[in-house]
Amino acid sequence: MIVIIGGSFAGVQAALELRRLDKKQRIVIFEKEKYLGYVPNGLNELLKGNIKKLEEAILYDLSELKSNQIEVHLSSECTFVDPVNKQVTILKEGHEMDIRYHQLIVAIGSIQRPLSLERETNLVYQTKTLADAQRTFDKLQKDVSSVAVLGGGIIGVELASALRQFNPRLEITILEKFDYLLELAVDRVISDAIVEKLYNENIQLYTGIDFESIQEDKSSTCIKTNQGTFESDMIIKAPNLEPNHRMLEGVIALDIDGSSIVNQGFQAVESLYVLGDLLRLKLMPIKEKFYMPLINNSVRTALVVANHIGGKNELTFESTKTNVFAAFGLTVVRSGAQKRNERFTFYNIDKCSGVYCLPDENRSNLYVVIFVREDTHEILGIQAASEVDISCFADLFSIIIRGKLSVEELATHDFFFHAAYPSKVTHFLNELALDYLDKQKEH
Ligand SMILES: Cc1cc2nc3c(=O)[nH]c(=O)nc-3n(C[C@H](O)[C@H](O)[C@H](O)COP(=O)(O)OP(=O)(O)OC[C@H]3O[C@@H](n4cnc5c(N)ncnc54)[C@H](O)[C@@H]3O)c2cc1C
Repeated sequence: MIVIIGGSFAGVQAALELRRLDKKQRIVIFEKEKYLGYVPNGLNELLKGNIKKLEEAILYDLSELKSNQIEVHLSSECTFVDPVNKQVTILKEGHEMDIRYHQLIVAIGSIQRPLSLERETNLVYQTKTLADAQRTFDKLQKDVSSVAVLGGGIIGVELASALRQFNPRLEITILEKFDYLLELAVDRVISDAIVEKLYNENIQLYTGIDFESIQEDKSSTCIKTNQGTFESDMIIKAPNLEPNHRMLEGVIALDIDGSSIVNQGFQAVESLYVLGDLLRLKLMPIKEKFYMPLINNSVRTALVVANHIGGKNELTFESTKTNVFAAFGLTVVRSGAQKRNERFTFYNIDKCSGVYCLPDENRSNLYVVIFVREDTHEILGIQAASEVDISCFADLFSIIIRGKLSVEELATHDFFFHAAYPSKVTHFLNELALDYLDKQKEH
């Protein structure tokens, strides 16, 4: 029997792939929540009016798994893993039971990092699980006229943007510890474009913030920081995620950040595999491991593990860290490494940026940044932002990076042209590559 702990993106994908490979194997999922695969930006979609209730952001239907003969136990929390005796302890409706396994897959994901200032208070709201998001939404519907968002990464910026759509009069302040917004996520060129939009939407932004403490009086909450005290009706935290590693302490080897130490097939010890947001993964273009919590990464780790369990060891996974996010009317697409990753490489990373136009009717603009390995001209990363939906470019960028294209190859790559379809005789990626090569000549 294969036991999977955690029925979210990684756990469910592992179950489906295991079933595809083996029609007879008994596969059992234990999930502590009452649902499978809540997409954590459900709250944003609700605030923007794209869905009517958070339950619409649940991705998987129980019946689909049942029809694949996958047993699912909801409201069933794993409390203990015993790899020596190959058994797990499951807590359901107040009763504990021990379940033996042949192979165990742990896919218990990530949590929103607890902040030291919220210790022993329940004044800070968060958004990752459906219950957290519901509590946050319920509070927002009460008498809230100001919100402080703690964290100016992707999660915080998307949340602030959704809050603005929800309530045009809400006072919104983003408090960010790094020196600029989205510092870990994107290049300064893209960050600056978003900051300009954010100020137009009347959102306050403070960077370089160190949180000190938090206090509540009758009507508001005060956060003390190195840059003074900020008062608001509500605080929502949006920190980076971290591996949900507590249950694995003392069971398998963990890295300093709590991520699991595993081999290429994501196996930690005999018959025990770890998936998704519990892992640090190699960033493919620079071969350095980072914590990159993404649904697209989680499901690929699941494919690798299912195939390894099925005896197919040739599948491996390194991430191109490809994703799309949208805030304040800009869609941002990114894939691969960026300039700030240079500290992990023995070579220099060049960067070149420009504003180009899309082949749509309006010839809309997009900002593009390309990151290139200086000595070989291999393209290591591409980021772009535009006021129109450019999400279709995410997968194109990731294929360029996975394919290790050089700038010279991209400069003359034959993108299609047809007058009846949105296309130009030269693609913006040709133009960007040519601009990079021109700048090289100037140096
Ligand atoms: C606000 C927000 C927006 C995001 N937007 C995106 C996005 O647009 N695109 C993207 O790719 N990524 C996004 N992410 C990241 C993405 O949510 C994670 O990478 C993804 O959820 C990881 O999937 P997972 O299956 O590895 O883990 P998780 O989704 O964290 O799932 C772990 C599962 O295990 C269960 N569990 C935990 N402990 C136990 C236990 N002891 N016993 C039984 N079950 C247990 C949990 O209930 C949960 O269902 C976002 C994250 C946040 C917070």
